[in-house]
Amino acid sequence: MSVAVVPGSFDPITLGHLDIVQRARGLFDEVVVGLAVNPDKQHLLDIEERIVLVERAVADLTGVRVMAVPALLAHFCQHVGASAIVKGLRSAADLFAEEPQAHMNRQLGGVETVFLVARPRYAHISSTIVKDVARAGGPITDYVTPGVAAAVAEALAAQTDAPE
Ligand code: ADP
Repeated sequence: MSVAVVPGSFDPITLGHLDIVQRARGLFDEVVVGLAVNPDKQHLLDIEERIVLVERAVADLTGVRVMAVPALLAHFCQHVGASAIVKGLRSAADLFAEEPQAHMNRQLGGVETVFLVARPRYAHISSTIVKDVARAGGPITDYVTPGVAAAVAEALAAQTDAPE
């Protein structure tokens, strides 16, 4: 059985991420969506909430599991029996950033990286831009599921309410 890992922060999961997960599932028998646990990185949503939102977003897909990646991605791939990492490429900038990681993951874990070119309609979408638009009061429903849009609104409101 062929297994691939689709890794990311998913803070939050966007329709662009979801498209990559679906297309990866078309190529592999099983896809594990791996959420990076990086305590040093400032996230809008904590790891538990990000996992729940990804689980809901992929609920209709068969052969897709959602897991946290507690340490090295290459070791996680070995742990789940994945032969490949699947990543979306939105631009040349993505490729520049991904290339050293792909070499490193092959050296550390013998795992190949497969790049899927982002669908043009999602190629400008990142979790960061979605959060920026939402923070400025703009609509994000073309870029995320309704459940994610609600969770982002709630998290941003909680940030605004929090005492300094
Ligand atoms: P961000 O969305 O902020 O880049 P992630 O770390 O969650 O954050 O991204 C994980 C992976 O998903 C990266 O390989 C990235 O290229 C890919 N990805 C993110 N957004 C899209 C998109 N809109 N279309 C295709 N791939 C994407």
